[in-house]
Amino acid sequence: MPQKLILPMNSVNVNAGYKMPAYTKTWGFRHYGIDLGNPEKKRTIYSPGDGTVIACGLDGETATQRLGRCIVIVYPDVICNSGKRTDLACRMFHLDSIAVKVGQTVKQGDILGVYGNTGANTSGPHLHVEFDTDVKYPQYAVGIKSSGHVIKKGTIDSTVDPAKVWYLGQGQTIRDGWDGDGVTSGWVAQNDLSLPRLPENTPVPDYQALYEAQRKKTAAMTLGIREILEKIEQLVQ
Ligand SMILES: [Zn+2]
Repeated sequence: MPQKLILPMNSVNVNAGYKMPAYTKTWGFRHYGIDLGNPEKKRTIYSPGDGTVIACGLDGETATQRLGRCIVIVYPDVICNSGKRTDLACRMFHLDSIAVKVGQTVKQGDILGVYGNTGANTSGPHLHVEFDTDVKYPQYAVGIKSSGHVIKKGTIDSTVDPAKVWYLGQGQTIRDGWDGDGVTSGWVAQNDLSLPRLPENTPVPDYQALYEAQRKKTAAMTLGIREILEKIEQLVQ
């Protein structure tokens, strides 16, 4: 059975979306993930799905170096909200504390840790999340200059936009972390905020439209047959 991933917190602010131009301009490198915060400052993060912890811990020698405390989890057989079905590696950076161990299996909703402000390139507490289709090398990330203890320097970009992956779980909300200015200033994409909701994500067929389409098709076919019959009649005469 394929699984659907949900947000790692019930209440989410988006501070910077995937590959957003304003981010590249400010930091001088591309953003291969999404930056999240909790508007109520509840920083506990939960597993978006059922998976296995591949790596975790401090990426540098100290908590202020590199990417801080990181977690790498592989989620098998994921149905993305885009319709894509794939295994996904999930990398999370800048955690204050980690509540899981390498090799541990996690279920959706299990506590993974608490997000924070660890690492070098961070300007305040937030959770960086990125998804990667390359589960053979889940620790390898593009956009970093060298390898650390947890996150290694990758060369091929096989990341996917988190906005095209996850769903809103029951009761979950997502909003612009800049009170609407994130979208206008190019830090947040409209897509980041308009996620489909579980479990009501299954589209209900538009029966009226289906009926109309079938009726038109039948009418067109009847017309076609009538024309042929008329032609035959003309030929016979
Ligand atoms: Zn980030």
